[in-house]
Amino acid sequence: MSYSVVFTGSIEPEKRIRTLDDIRTYYRNGEYSNEVKVQLDKLKEKLKSHPAGEKDIILMDVDETALNSFEFISGTDFDFYPHLWENWMLKGEIPSNEPVLQFYREMSAAGFSFMFLTGRMHIFREATEKNLKAEGFWPYLRLITRLEEEDGLEPAVFKTRVRQSLTDEGYRILANVGDQESDIEGGLALFPLRLPNFLYQI
Ligand SMILES: [Mg+2]
Repeated sequence: MSYSVVFTGSIEPEKRIRTLDDIRTYYRNGEYSNEVKVQLDKLKEKLKSHPAGEKDIILMDVDETALNSFEFISGTDFDFYPHLWENWMLKGEIPSNEPVLQFYREMSAAGFSFMFLTGRMHIFREATEKNLKAEGFWPYLRLITRLEEEDGLEPAVFKTRVRQSLTDEGYRILANVGDQESDIEGGLALFPLRLPNFLYQI
């Protein structure tokens, strides 16, 4: 993984965000949160017509989806230092992505069940669980991390395999929410949603 200025996605800001300061402004002036909220509101509308059955789930990514590391990444000037990132994850104190937490709360209250699927390795599982709980993402049905033997898999391959095995278990993935193309490609979800991420591309 490397951090870079990312010009992908389908949202308006990609046309004008060109510098690191543009990125900082976008995240700090509320525009990022607004964009995420607008996207999630649209998803909510779609989900309303699919009352949750017992094996219906909403699948969510963790980094730059449930949790928001913008300030940390900005603090390293958008350079990627693996050991710093690992320590950051291990602390388990990454702030929630506010509009995503709001979405989680509303949908949970409406009877939808959640699972979290992250490309994080299994050794970060405990810290991830602690972090999600502390930020309010609790309860959920399952947190799925990457096992040792899955280490070499491309992110999209790993995540598609997981969605396939959940489908084989009889789950219907109503929505799949993530910030990377690799979270979404491979399908197997009724409503896939890719949120903006101008911090890094995996
Ligand atoms: Mg992510």
